[in-house]
Amino acid sequence: MKKKDLANHGIRSRQDRLRILFSGRNADAILVSHLADIRYLCGFSGSNALLIVTADKSTLLTDGRYTIQANEETSGVEVLIVRKSLFAEAGGLLSLARTRKTVLYSPGQLAVSQFAALRKTAGHLAHWRVDPGLVAGLRGVKDADEVAAMKQAADLASAVFVDVLPIIRPGLLENELAAEIEYRMRHMGASGASFETIVASGPRSALPHARPTDKPIGKNELVVLDLGAILRGYCSDMTRTVFVGKAPRRVREWYGAVLAAQVAAIRALQPGVTAGDVDSAARRVLHRHRLARFFTHSTGHGLGLEVHEAPRLGRGETTKLEAGNVVTIEPGVYVENVGGIRIEDDVMVVQDHVDTALKSAQILTSAPKDFLEL
Ligand code: ZN
Ligand code: ZN
Repeated sequence: MKKKDLANHGIRSRQDRLRILFSGRNADAILVSHLADIRYLCGFSGSNALLIVTADKSTLLTDGRYTIQANEETSGVEVLIVRKSLFAEAGGLLSLARTRKTVLYSPGQLAVSQFAALRKTAGHLAHWRVDPGLVAGLRGVKDADEVAAMKQAADLASAVFVDVLPIIRPGLLENELAAEIEYRMRHMGASGASFETIVASGPRSALPHARPTDKPIGKNELVVLDLGAILRGYCSDMTRTVFVGKAPRRVREWYGAVLAAQVAAIRALQPGVTAGDVDSAARRVLHRHRLARFFTHSTGHGLGLEVHEAPRLGRGETTKLEAGNVVTIEPGVYVENVGGIRIEDDVMVVQDHVDTALKSAQILTSAPKDFLEL
């Protein structure tokens, strides 16, 4: 098969797997309204669309701005260009068959007014039931093409991290460094950043989600860099922490503890373990170093077409991991008024976990994790 045919085949099989899932739950159709889900199921990457998948047909509804793009990008769907409300049209489409259908939908992805428009035109011919997250479940297990794209996206971000190290010095503004990172990612082929790049220096590095500011990086400061690139639609997400100057012993010890926690969580990543088990593996190490109370967020999250997707690796999460899940592992410690350290890699869950895999394909992020004093 040619490359394009292979891609089409992959996308059709995603729709077919979805059909098996919803018919197994006694539903006749699913209305997909989350754009990343739509992209996953049919390839369409525009900003306004709905997808209806029934037992024998898939229809993509979008507007006139996307006539050419929808025909170019999609496979396995009939494209319907809608002049007015997508929701009113979708409801009308569901009522066409004149038999009552059970339709799954995601209330969290719809405005009240949009659901009202759907209900009005579908009338009594649609019985609406909440989707238990069927597409999210499919998206959680990556196929070989997706993993290849994610590996490239992770390598690109890793290369940019190594590339900017020589320019990190006292006096450089956080904003300047963030701009350099984003420029270099695009220059190396990324279609954009997966999220707003984080550069946080000195006491600001103790804020896990700091936005870069006009603060100059100071001498003897920690700098947290959290960056990700989008390639062929897929996101990477990595964090490294460096020290500008010669680090005090206490900071070196913190770094060693965070790295040990990160490695422990990666070792715990195996098919069949729960997301919560992986989180505890990281937390246990930090507890041993008396740093657990400074680890104030969860250990990681799923990654793919979106930078945050299922599964979430947090305290007590009962989701069982499967081979093909790609997640971030990103423990950190944050000490108010002093600074923070986080180390984050993108990692794939593989079937036969062996310790040597820690150095091989399982970890997608390739940037070094040694403690760097610049
Ligand atoms: Zn990150
Ligand atoms: Zn992350």
